[in-house]
Amino acid sequence: MGMRVPDRTGVIAGYRVWRVLPGRWIAASDSLHAQAGHWAWSLAGPTVARCPSRVQADPRKPLLVGGPCGEASPGYGCSCGLYARYEPAGEAYLLPYVAGSVLAWGRVIHHAKRSFFRAEKALPVAFVRPHGGSGLFPEEAEEKLYRVAEELGAAVVESPRELRDYTEEEASGW
Ligand SMILES: [Zn+2]
Repeated sequence: MGMRVPDRTGVIAGYRVWRVLPGRWIAASDSLHAQAGHWAWSLAGPTVARCPSRVQADPRKPLLVGGPCGEASPGYGCSCGLYARYEPAGEAYLLPYVAGSVLAWGRVIHHAKRSFFRAEKALPVAFVRPHGGSGLFPEEAEEKLYRVAEELGAAVVESPRELRDYTEEEASGW
């Protein structure tokens, strides 16, 4: 790993699922999305949480207003932030979905009972190698995933167990 995780203290490991956009016409840097999201995770460094803008109902005000958290995303009482679970999912995912892990830091809101957290900054560190896909372009999605992993300097591992071992090792190194 490069020197892109600045704060040794408070780095935590998390697990999540992304959606890889296949296709040569979409740059790798625009290809790693949340499962249900329309913006791309950064491949050049950690992704930083942003409280999404909202549509303003009052016609006398601007159509879009900044989310309530402003610079302090993720906020309590909001749903913004970079989501991850404390434990890797046991089930396999088919492309275009891919399971992986992050190191997360900064402002972190823990949702203990629901076993996930929302973080201010997160850097993907590993992906579980997919075995087949259910999307229209599984081969293109797989090829894209390897490019995404390469640009991030992330590992591609063979199983959720290996994902956990690798990620805990990475987290303990910081
Ligand atoms: Zn927010």
